[in-house]
Amino acid sequence: MDNSNIIRDEVLEQYLALEEKIKKYNPSVNVERLRYAYEFARESHGDQKRKDGSLFVTHPIATADIVADMELDEDSVIACLLHDVVEDTPVTAEEIAKRFGKDVALLVEGVTKLTRVVYTSKEEEQVENLRKMLMAMAKDIRVIIIKVSDRLHNMRTMNYQSAEKQRKKALETMEIYAPIAHRLGMQRVKWELEDLSLIYLDPIGYQEITCQLDNRRKTLETFMNDISNTITERMSSVGVECKVFSRLKHIYSIYRKMYSQNKEFNEVLDLCAFRIIVGNVSDCYNALGQIHDLYNPMPGRFKDYISTPKPNMYQSLHTTVIGDEGMPFEVQIRTWEMHRTAEYGVAAHWKYKQGIGSKTGNDEEKFAWIRSLLETQQASDAADFVHGLKTDMFADEVFVFTPQGEVINLPAGATPIDFAYSIHTAVGNLMTGARVNGRIATFDHILENGDIVEIMTSPSANGPSRDWMQIAKSSQAKGKIKQWFKKEKREENIVHGKAAFEAEMKRNNLSLNDLSGPDAILACLKKLSFSNFDDMYAAIGYGGLTSVRAVNRFREDIVVAKRQKRLEEKAAEATKESQQQPVRAEKRQHSVRGVVVGDLDNCLIKFARCCTPVPGDKIVGFITKGYGVSVHRAECQNRLNSGSRDNEDERWIDVSWGDIGSETYNTALTISARDRRNFVLDIATVLATAKVKITSLSAREVEGGQAVAFVSMDVHTRAELQAAIHRLSVIKGVTEVKRPGV
Ligand code: MN
Repeated sequence: MDNSNIIRDEVLEQYLALEEKIKKYNPSVNVERLRYAYEFARESHGDQKRKDGSLFVTHPIATADIVADMELDEDSVIACLLHDVVEDTPVTAEEIAKRFGKDVALLVEGVTKLTRVVYTSKEEEQVENLRKMLMAMAKDIRVIIIKVSDRLHNMRTMNYQSAEKQRKKALETMEIYAPIAHRLGMQRVKWELEDLSLIYLDPIGYQEITCQLDNRRKTLETFMNDISNTITERMSSVGVECKVFSRLKHIYSIYRKMYSQNKEFNEVLDLCAFRIIVGNVSDCYNALGQIHDLYNPMPGRFKDYISTPKPNMYQSLHTTVIGDEGMPFEVQIRTWEMHRTAEYGVAAHWKYKQGIGSKTGNDEEKFAWIRSLLETQQASDAADFVHGLKTDMFADEVFVFTPQGEVINLPAGATPIDFAYSIHTAVGNLMTGARVNGRIATFDHILENGDIVEIMTSPSANGPSRDWMQIAKSSQAKGKIKQWFKKEKREENIVHGKAAFEAEMKRNNLSLNDLSGPDAILACLKKLSFSNFDDMYAAIGYGGLTSVRAVNRFREDIVVAKRQKRLEEKAAEATKESQQQPVRAEKRQHSVRGVVVGDLDNCLIKFARCCTPVPGDKIVGFITKGYGVSVHRAECQNRLNSGSRDNEDERWIDVSWGDIGSETYNTALTISARDRRNFVLDIATVLATAKVKITSLSAREVEGGQAVAFVSMDVHTRAELQAAIHRLSVIKGVTEVKRPGV
């Protein structure tokens, strides 16, 4: 027979198996498009080889196979087939877009971007940043799913790589990819990644466990079979339809138990796990009851993740019971749907299926779940939502690299300035320029996820400029810039600060002269925690204190000082007066309502309504019949007219203003104006602005298109009244403001 006829095309067979798998879960898949992708990948990779000697294209096909196990959509599978084309061949993303559409190209580009990320050994904090960065860079969750599948296949075929590469990739997988798989709820992938990593990270530990398991395999298998049978029988006898699976725990979970709890292999008792899959939620609880009836539950080990799902969407009932031989084992009970989610997590929601968008309330809940998991925004319908699901869970952070591959976590919107200061204060202060992804960038360039940032420094750099404070996004950078100005530019700061402070004082109409001397000024500075003006000016200059805050502080003391000064002046005046009339001084203190009546003490006082005197007016008193002394203004018409009447002259006596205190005096005004709208309102407004209390206000029209308003009000002094009169007289249309009685 001709040999060439029986050379099997193993690659084609591998592809055809994949095609069959996809057709099973997605009967309407575009087979031509799929096959075209395969052919394009095969052609592009040409005769590139993998380390084991097989054609490189077997890798993307195998990766697509993993993704097909999760029943992902057509675009994802195609992107999988093409995922290394852009990285490893001359084919560009544009070409992929032309041949397979924009969606596929975006997925491939996303994976390529992640592939280009270079890792170095990291501390724990760095590792968390890396995980976040990968998720943030991916933008579309499917990119992460493809990348994780890619890693899974690489780990499966890692044995041909060098020992060093094996360890490096295994560590990366254990620290980055397994946790990402876990976060996305892809339990099965996570387990496999962990076990594969362990082979290279601790080969002896791995060997030990597999050997022990092999030694006991027979016993364990018998045990698992017996238990499975018992459970299956019991369930069918009570009419709960179910399928029972048993398995040995995965190796890394046994490994972790041995090392974290410091146990020997023999001491790790629960090596087996059972899973009961039932048709609906109520059967889950039925089954649980039956299990607890068959075996003794271990206290404290029952967990209900059905009513309270885990953040990664996982749902199940967990219990640990003790078998007949005293061997504990775990039982997980869940529905088929929960099972799929448990195995494939987020990926379970991309599975191709016509019914995926069936808008039952349950579906809504299911998607609300992912929504909360990924903190993504709402979408109009479920299918749309799934499609557009973005990994914007770290929207307020950005992750960038140093040229050495260290990940730096900065707030979103950060610039090279933030980056420089996060490396080291000196790097920031000596920065002269920056390169982002090899290109010169401006200082206000907004950094993006995955950017490689390089800072150029010079020992003779001038230091930060004041506008950096506005450009920097992180408080760390801002703080350090401030600090620099504080230290390095004291003289300059003092000049800047002094100018700002003085301008602000002037703006507020304040003067330091109003303070009562150097001590008062010093006290003011102390309250601001400074011992001299230069320190305060310097602080204002570098931005540690605003000029507004400083001036406010001074204002408080200036206001107090001014009030004090006024009181002292008044006191001084009073003293002067009392010195001029020393004999009567004592008596004069006896005033009633601020009025001192000749030699009389404590006589009844009333203020005449005709002329309503207020302190500061010249006044006279009139001794009434049985009603004490009535106080009039000296120029009161009534008083002037009374002179002609008999016996009245001697009833007028001298009175004067005494200590008036804070009392108010009711007085009145007559305001004439051209009649117009809002006249009364204007009066009220003017008096209110002058803080004069109105007790009554009325107005009426008089002949000649004029209006007259009568207002009575409470004032403290004549000066206050005169100020009010002045304000009223400039109201539009006012012709006269008059006090009554004269
Ligand atoms: Mn790959």
